[in-house]
Amino acid sequence: MERKNPRDPAFLGGRAADRTIVKGTMRTRDCIIVGGGPAGLTAALELLETTDVRPVIFESTGHIGGIARTIDHKGNRIDVGGHRFYSKSDRVMEWWNRILPLQGFPARDDLLLNRQVPLSTAPDSPDPEKTDKVMLVRRRHSRIFHRRKFFDYPVTLGFGTVSGLGWAQTARIGMSYLNARIFPIQDEKSLEDFLVNRFGRELYRTFFRDYTEKVWGIPCERIDPEWGVQRVKGLSISKALSHALQRLVSRNSGGSRKDTETSLIDRFRYPKFGPGQLWEEVARLVEDRGGEIHRNHRVTGLRCEGTRIVDVTVENLLTGASLTREADYFLSSMPVKDLILSLSPPAPLVVRTVAEGLRYRSLVTIGLLVDKLAVRNETRIETLNGIVPDTWIYIQDGGVRLGRIQIFNNWSPYLVRDGKTVWLGLEYFCDEGDDFWNLSDRELLELAIEELCRIGIAGQADVRDGVAIREPKAYPAYYGTYDRFPLIRKHVDTIENLFLIGRNGMHRYNNMDHAMLTAMAAVDGIRTKSTAKDPIWSVNTEKEHLEERGRSAGKPR
Ligand SMILES: Cc1cc2nc3c(=O)[nH]c(=O)nc-3n(C[C@H](O)[C@H](O)[C@H](O)COP(=O)(O)OP(=O)(O)OC[C@H]3O[C@@H](n4cnc5c(N)ncnc54)[C@H](O)[C@@H]3O)c2cc1C
Repeated sequence: MERKNPRDPAFLGGRAADRTIVKGTMRTRDCIIVGGGPAGLTAALELLETTDVRPVIFESTGHIGGIARTIDHKGNRIDVGGHRFYSKSDRVMEWWNRILPLQGFPARDDLLLNRQVPLSTAPDSPDPEKTDKVMLVRRRHSRIFHRRKFFDYPVTLGFGTVSGLGWAQTARIGMSYLNARIFPIQDEKSLEDFLVNRFGRELYRTFFRDYTEKVWGIPCERIDPEWGVQRVKGLSISKALSHALQRLVSRNSGGSRKDTETSLIDRFRYPKFGPGQLWEEVARLVEDRGGEIHRNHRVTGLRCEGTRIVDVTVENLLTGASLTREADYFLSSMPVKDLILSLSPPAPLVVRTVAEGLRYRSLVTIGLLVDKLAVRNETRIETLNGIVPDTWIYIQDGGVRLGRIQIFNNWSPYLVRDGKTVWLGLEYFCDEGDDFWNLSDRELLELAIEELCRIGIAGQADVRDGVAIREPKAYPAYYGTYDRFPLIRKHVDTIENLFLIGRNGMHRYNNMDHAMLTAMAAVDGIRTKSTAKDPIWSVNTEKEHLEERGRSAGKPR
């Protein structure tokens, strides 16, 4: 193995002798950051702004932004997954606002439709029609598509639901909801128990089961209730109804209300060109200020001496060269499973066994460009070309594999090259390497088009173009060996200068704000010379989350 390749930009200048002076800061210590997603990039910028430590990011792909990147397909942009920028943390909201300031003038569709949106009144707030570095305020409108009809998401028991389901089914739902309230399952052992307790068995079967089982690939009775605690949180029928009432009397303002359940947020922020735009801007700042970002470099080994990591082995995926690099600190947002299996000397067998048993779900997004949709906009929300106003459509239908559809036009009009077409993202959940994952791009496109037409969202003749994008390990799963995760944590916490951050880095099914706050907590630790890891593990973007977990799941993680 080569120790150092002087022509590889990842190793130019060596380590300790290379002192970078950025805006008066002499940086004599290095921090290697594994992964150039939201967690890694946040850590890098925080290090540059609050410490004298130089960040060195290794990112295995050629892209920036991790799952939250934007992919450009012939001028039409894809947001893998659909990323609402929303957080109850002021620190995160202010951070985003500093990178991409909030719009002071309407976006193209709001302008054309004369729609009112909350605008920033700060001086020099950007105009999205004139400049690119701008964060938009968008309206969330998601619905469930069930038996060719639209229902509110999250589900309500309003007139639309009743007329869509019919009185008999509504009565069954009402009875089973009452039954669940009067005789709740006392010890919630599964996600099914969690959802049945909050919505009743009939509503759970109608609107929750199919989609959730598509996402996780296993029955809801085998999923830990933790999933519901994290993602559905305090949501219930009564809260959904009271939220609908609140909406009638109060106007939302820019997506930062702290008393709103995350699943119900009406407005969210969104970069003009999708989430990747923000992370590319952060990457630019990191490089401008003296940080290093090495794309196409995969970290394959971390070498430990005593209780410290001393260096990492990195493979340059373009040249095949394998190199080592030393540093003082190591932040990892790579999947914790890979991290444990990359340690040398090897972690104890029991820890490796837990790591090997961690499970993930992967995501395949099919971008489809269509001339028009076959479903009509029957809402009161006006849209350009009269398309349905949804950001996401949840497909609650066991007859197709399709899980969810994004309509990119509604996320940002600037994601779509030609304002006349409709740009869709069809989301399929699978396991890396399974039959679905291994289909060719052409087979994936054929399947997606066939399903989209079969459920009546679009017609075959209207499809113009398509692209398939595979996202491995999109979801860290709370099954497999997850119940023994504390063994992993105990082991990594003994390594003083190693900090686990981010979604797969900590195996937490969480949003960007959580990934960012864990990165900030790690940098806070480096700045204050603390080796304690509790502040990172205890980051919680939801105060209510902890209370809710104590009440319903009834067991510590
Ligand atoms: C379908 C979907 C929808 C979502 N919607 C939202 C939303 O609306 N709002 C929101 O806030 N969040 C949302 N998220 C969550 C958000 O994407 C994540 O929280 C965020 O991307 C986590 O950031 P991260 O840096 O921890 O991880 P990642 O984004 O996964 O980045 C990790 C990076 O590490 C790199 N890497 C991995 N292994 C190695 C290695 N060995 N060496 C070098 N590099 C490596 C990867 O290539 C990747 O770039 C969504 C996620 C999904 C899947």
